[in-house]
Amino acid sequence: MNDIILLKQGEMVLKGLNRREFEVKLLSNIRRRLKTFGTFKVYSMQSTVYVEPQDDARMDEAFEACKAIFGAMSVTRAAACAKDKDAILQTTIEYLGPTLRTVNSFKVESKRADKRFPMGSIELSQYVGGLLHDHFTHLKPDMHHPELTVNIEIRDLAAYVHGPAESGAGGLPVGVGGRMVSLLSGGIDSPVATHMIARRGVQVIPVHFFTPPYTSEMAKDKVLKLAKLLTKYCGRLKVDLVPFTHISEEIGKNCPEGLMTIIMRRFMMRIAERIAIDNGCTAIVTGENLGQVASQTAEALAVTEACLSIPTFRPLLAMDKNEIVERSRVIGTYETSILPYEDCCTVFTPRRPRTKPKIAEVLDAEEALDIESLVQEAIDAIERVTIDI
Ligand code: ATP
Ligand code: MG
Repeated sequence: MNDIILLKQGEMVLKGLNRREFEVKLLSNIRRRLKTFGTFKVYSMQSTVYVEPQDDARMDEAFEACKAIFGAMSVTRAAACAKDKDAILQTTIEYLGPTLRTVNSFKVESKRADKRFPMGSIELSQYVGGLLHDHFTHLKPDMHHPELTVNIEIRDLAAYVHGPAESGAGGLPVGVGGRMVSLLSGGIDSPVATHMIARRGVQVIPVHFFTPPYTSEMAKDKVLKLAKLLTKYCGRLKVDLVPFTHISEEIGKNCPEGLMTIIMRRFMMRIAERIAIDNGCTAIVTGENLGQVASQTAEALAVTEACLSIPTFRPLLAMDKNEIVERSRVIGTYETSILPYEDCCTVFTPRRPRTKPKIAEVLDAEEALDIESLVQEAIDAIERVTIDI
């Protein structure tokens, strides 16, 4: 039997002139993502991507991987056969037989994209449904609430038989939305924000600030582990690890305690912006959320981004914490995010952070620091790690 994976394109089919470009990106993302599972022939026609396994292909793993690739609305495993009613019936019996034996009711739904096929879709459904019923005598036809829907699609190259489709990852193919820097801490929020922005077709460059010896090697490993989990969605990642100890200590020594957090965050932003510009990125993404902590009031967010010339995007801004947690569970980062390794902000946290900082006083406090050389020193010491899928 010719087992195949079909991915139905999502909202990208709405794109006018860019559509072909989106499709090319989706195909190349799928090809790259499936390389580790053997050889596949990947092509697209009629808003559908076809993934055909060759000799050595591992289909179960490939199918799981396809469910995480942005740009597909649904993903189905199907059996391909000749566009002939009896070949279709025979394939259905072989391919879905094991499932049909375990259910009590069914229906057949046909779609005829190839209008040259001699039967209408209702006629084909009735033909296959009638003979399936003869073959599996325990089955009852049920048009409204069948336990199994047998889908038949007549397309250009072949007919395809499959059970229910699974949800795809949605969104747009990674790469069509350009590149952005994503600030990745070890917490729950930033991996979710990174996933959300990647889902809109953005290729992310994760940036992490670490503060040895206040934070351990384990904290860094945790972030790299989170990045590894995200490759499932984002593809291969180049993570920038930025040493932040000197900057934190200088701020601790020279700035008012209540403004420490906001000034540290502005340094993160400045460094992120430099990395963004050097890598052709259009924006900075963070896991900030309105009102979650003292540094995330509207006033504080405004002061945080005031030192930038490119935009900051905050996909989680208006979400509730429980919604963010739920998403992190779904995408598979939660268990790693809750591992108890401190990030730099928990070490240098003021007792009473100012919730409504004024830009003038922050600029004034920053006068005590040699901003340019601190930023440059951190940038010169960046460690770039490539994380493969
Ligand atoms: P998270 O759960 O993502 O750590 P949080 O609720 O703990 O977020 P903060 O610690 O104030 O909030 O951080 C807000 C955002 O700033 C993070 O979501 C992340 O994007 C960025 N950020 C904070 N600390 C770091 C760090 N050490 N390295 C990189 N980015 C960071
Ligand atoms: Mg945090």
